[in-house]
Amino acid sequence: IVSYQSIQKSFGDLHVIKGIDLDIYPGEKIALIGPSGSGKTTLGRMLMTLEEPTSGTILIDDEPLWQTELKGKRIRANEKHLRKMRSKVGMVFQHFNLFPHMSVLNNVSMAPRSVLKLTKEEAEEQAIMMLRKVGLDQKLQVYPSQLSGGQKQRVAIARALVMQPKVMVFDEVTSALDPELVGEVLFVIKEIADEGQMAMMLITHEMEFAREVADRVVFGADGLIVEQGTPEDIFTNPQSERLQAFLKRFL
Ligand code: ATP
Repeated sequence: IVSYQSIQKSFGDLHVIKGIDLDIYPGEKIALIGPSGSGKTTLGRMLMTLEEPTSGTILIDDEPLWQTELKGKRIRANEKHLRKMRSKVGMVFQHFNLFPHMSVLNNVSMAPRSVLKLTKEEAEEQAIMMLRKVGLDQKLQVYPSQLSGGQKQRVAIARALVMQPKVMVFDEVTSALDPELVGEVLFVIKEIADEGQMAMMLITHEMEFAREVADRVVFGADGLIVEQGTPEDIFTNPQSERLQAFLKRFL
């Protein structure tokens, strides 16, 4: 469903991603782990077209999202094509980014109305279905400021799900939460993962969670993929010194 090919990214002089090739298959759950600053978030943001690669190609469903010509000139798909591509990807951020002046129901039903052009009734029906999935269908008329961090994050998940993406990026969605709220959010993600059809890219520092949910764990450091494999391979039989040292910090 997603193919990163020879992806590089620099911010000014900072060479953050130094050549990444990564394919994600339909329905596959990938956990992206690695030290802070290794470029995990940047990779996720590229799928949402929030960040542009300096060079390389990203395909979604075999169609280019970003592509670099041989001469180094970047080609970006035209706007119409880009909108279609973008609709295949959903993202949940560390900081929930809910609209504070909108109720929970409006937060979740807004994009289906404005982007998918559903009627108010259709959009709300879909939104309620997703809010039920994350256990918040009792909070439809509540505003974000009245919710706990864990509840806000579950609304953000419902808001991404309602667009029915083929791939979802979860970017450290629990790192801004109080420890006692982490579990409820991971539980919801695990349930969605178990439904199976959607591919997921889980950028996470929760190693136990990665082990439980991911089909494949990808360890990146210094802008490159250092090692990847099944959770079993990565967590019980790490090969590289980098990964061994990284995992020691979580023991
Ligand atoms: P973390 O686990 O801390 O979120 P990460 O692996 O997700 O780290 P990124 O957020 O992708 O890492 O950032 C990689 C590097 O790129 C960091 O050094 C960061 O400071 C830098 N960076 C990210 N975005 C920008 C930007 N817009 N402008 C300049 N530098 C940036």
